Amino acid sequence: MVTPEGACYTPARESARPPGRAATRNFFAMARRRQLYEGKAKILFEGPEPGTLVQYFKDDATAGNGAKKGTITGKGVLNNRISEYLMTRLHEIGIPTHFIRRLNMREQLIREVEIIPLEVVVRNVAAGSLATRLGITEGQRLPRSIIEYYYKNDQLNDPMVAEEHITCFGWAATQDLDDMVALTLRVNDFLTGLFLGVGITLVDFKLEFGRLWENEEMRIVLADEISPDNCRLWDAKTGEKMDKDRFRRDLGKVEEGYQEVARRLGILPEAGPRDMSGPEVMQ
Ligand code: ADP
Ligand code: MG
Repeated sequence: MVTPEGACYTPARESARPPGRAATRNFFAMARRRQLYEGKAKILFEGPEPGTLVQYFKDDATAGNGAKKGTITGKGVLNNRISEYLMTRLHEIGIPTHFIRRLNMREQLIREVEIIPLEVVVRNVAAGSLATRLGITEGQRLPRSIIEYYYKNDQLNDPMVAEEHITCFGWAATQDLDDMVALTLRVNDFLTGLFLGVGITLVDFKLEFGRLWENEEMRIVLADEISPDNCRLWDAKTGEKMDKDRFRRDLGKVEEGYQEVARRLGILPEAGPRDMSGPEVMQ
């Protein structure tokens, strides 16, 4: 059996060398693998074993479906680590995810799934498009969590859709949707508590799911990433934003926001795997 560390696969390594040389090293390391897809924030490479992929996290940032483009230095490293941490915690409470393990600073090994072309958004506090579209004051806590669906299609600007559209056009069956909603609510409850424990309000977030086939059986699993790119995270006391809204709204200190999230979760990459102190619990 070829293990993920097998001879057929050489992971790219972050280098402490000057950017020019590091970039060259990464280029050669990456060139050995087949690139399958380049998205706005990540690149997917063929994995070392059938049914696996390598997800590479870029520093590229976009907002408004690519209308605004930029770079957030170090974002890829932080998101790789934050998503690893959150997917691992979710796995521990029985949420099935695509995550296998982190390979290095920017890459993680994942199971290849058939992505369901939907973005499932959960909202606990009014913000973003909910606030602007419906004229609700940003920051208002919602009496109950709201789930929204968006059709994943860049050409159409990811339009919001209803359950009827989803089942009518066959993007997901009713049973798939039921599974996705049940998982989403569990993820929301768990992550709300996890973030609150480190002094962060989980305002809203986006999930993607995929179908995973194992011996003729299909399971819906959590895919993509969970990071400050697709969560709104506010300091629970001051309301300060620690997510991609800092980039979207030109608030400055974007990287610092992502870093603060990682720091509070006890997973700042600089600390190194052995120095991880674990979450910093707030009183
Ligand atoms: P996009 O610009 O389409 O959002 P990203 O930069 O986020 O792309 O790259 C990740 C892409 O990989 C997304 O299109 C996402 O749906 C897809 N993806 C995430 N997890 C998996 C997986 N386990 N298997 C297959 N595709 C995946
Ligand atoms: Mg994406």
